[in-house]
Amino acid sequence: MGGVRLIPIGVGEAFSARHYTSCLALGSGNDWLLIDCPHPLRKMLREATLTAKLPEPLDIGHFTATAVTHLHADHCCGLEDYGYFSYFALGRRAKLLMHPESSARLWDGLLAAGMESVQARPDEPPARKALSDYFELIDLDTTRPVACGPFSIECRRTIHAVPTYAMRITVAGRVLGFSADTAFDPGLIDWLAESDLIVHEATSMAHSGVHTPYEKLAALPDEIRSRMRLTHLPDDFDVGSSVIEPLREGKIYEV
Ligand SMILES: [Zn+2]
Repeated sequence: MGGVRLIPIGVGEAFSARHYTSCLALGSGNDWLLIDCPHPLRKMLREATLTAKLPEPLDIGHFTATAVTHLHADHCCGLEDYGYFSYFALGRRAKLLMHPESSARLWDGLLAAGMESVQARPDEPPARKALSDYFELIDLDTTRPVACGPFSIECRRTIHAVPTYAMRITVAGRVLGFSADTAFDPGLIDWLAESDLIVHEATSMAHSGVHTPYEKLAALPDEIRSRMRLTHLPDDFDVGSSVIEPLREGKIYEV
């Protein structure tokens, strides 16, 4: 299949009992970028890409890199397995794209507890490992696009509880915009509006907080709404009456 395409791997918010959590696969030819990396990633990839009827299900080894928006578990709790699978099964480091503010506590605050010690055999002492044994961390930058393979990634800080970055990703002349997690932010909408396809998080008013109420997005001009799709959906989200199309896991969207 030609063109630039997006396959949602997980479209649910953190508490969803219906969906996997935030994860997107962006593809151009045989090049794929993973956007956010929750658990259980390999099962999620297999199920979504079988639904999408790809000739071969996507797996961790197919991705040029993963770009992670922030350290809430529903967006990043697959990174330990992503790193271990790359290290042990693929024999290489995984490329990981994050803004330095988002990744500042990635090792000490998240991954070290499960990854700093590796023991090859019961009769040998464990070896001490560091983030750089598993990952090639590539810093995103708000002042310039960062290239990784055929993908070029721009980022912008959002309004959220922990440092979080929205992204505009250009590949083969097409641009995907992803809001990441954010309170409603008209400046961010303007920034994302320069994309061909916009994926925005949405929640119901009842628990908006540092998320974006659906009603705010539904009130945007038609021209923007027509290029927008919704993700990070709560289980009570009324998919049937939404005036903006909610993403579906395993459906292929042309960017
Ligand atoms: Zn979050």
